[in-house]
Amino acid sequence: MRIIGLIGGMSFESSAVYYRLINEMVRDRLGGLASAELLMYSVNFEEIVALQKAGRWDEAAARLGNAAHRLQEAGAECVLICTNTMHLIAPQVAARISVPLIHIIDETAAALKAAGRVKPLLLATRYTMEHGFYADRMASNGVSIMVPDADDRTTVHDIIFNELCAGIVSDVSRRKLTGIIERAKADGADSVILGCTEICLILDPNALTLPGFDTTTIHAGSAVDFALGAEKAAGRRAA
Ligand code: GLU
Repeated sequence: MRIIGLIGGMSFESSAVYYRLINEMVRDRLGGLASAELLMYSVNFEEIVALQKAGRWDEAAARLGNAAHRLQEAGAECVLICTNTMHLIAPQVAARISVPLIHIIDETAAALKAAGRVKPLLLATRYTMEHGFYADRMASNGVSIMVPDADDRTTVHDIIFNELCAGIVSDVSRRKLTGIIERAKADGADSVILGCTEICLILDPNALTLPGFDTTTIHAGSAVDFALGAEKAAGRRAA
């Protein structure tokens, strides 16, 4: 089994989900009491959030690049950045390592295409919905994403940072998110990307009125494929 390297802590609420999912998938596939060999470098999210708010992406890239490098030095044979947002600086992180960076956007695009979905609604942080890196990388994979309108983007962003990353899951916010999905469906969306690694804490991707694609589950599954020798993800690097 190959050793998985996780850059976590963004937030730790979702890193805990990654840890559980990866281990459950390994146990399901190998049986018995099998579990994953993995390393996690978990950052102080408060510091990363401050860099995001200040637009200091180069500094964030240097920090996550250092984390990736240390994971590789410690024996990781692949690296995952356990947040969609910080894939904004995935190319700089990938440049610091020689093992594969398993890219959340590429893996999610592959899952969408395998299911024949071409017009997903993206629910994510403001950075992910507005900075262009996500839409561009999806487009280069042949997927054209939709984003909510400005008010709804604010709603989703605030639910992520003020609630989900703080361990708060509320029915009121769940209803707001499903309302946004209903509006996108009326506008032609054919699926929904849970494009923030905490959204799976509040929405079940299999209980929506559109097919849901949970980036946390997809990304964790790609890591397990890699660890157990399926080469699907091995060739993918951040460009
Ligand atoms: N985990 C979230 C994501 O997938 C947001 C936290 C962050 O800003 O990194 O984008």
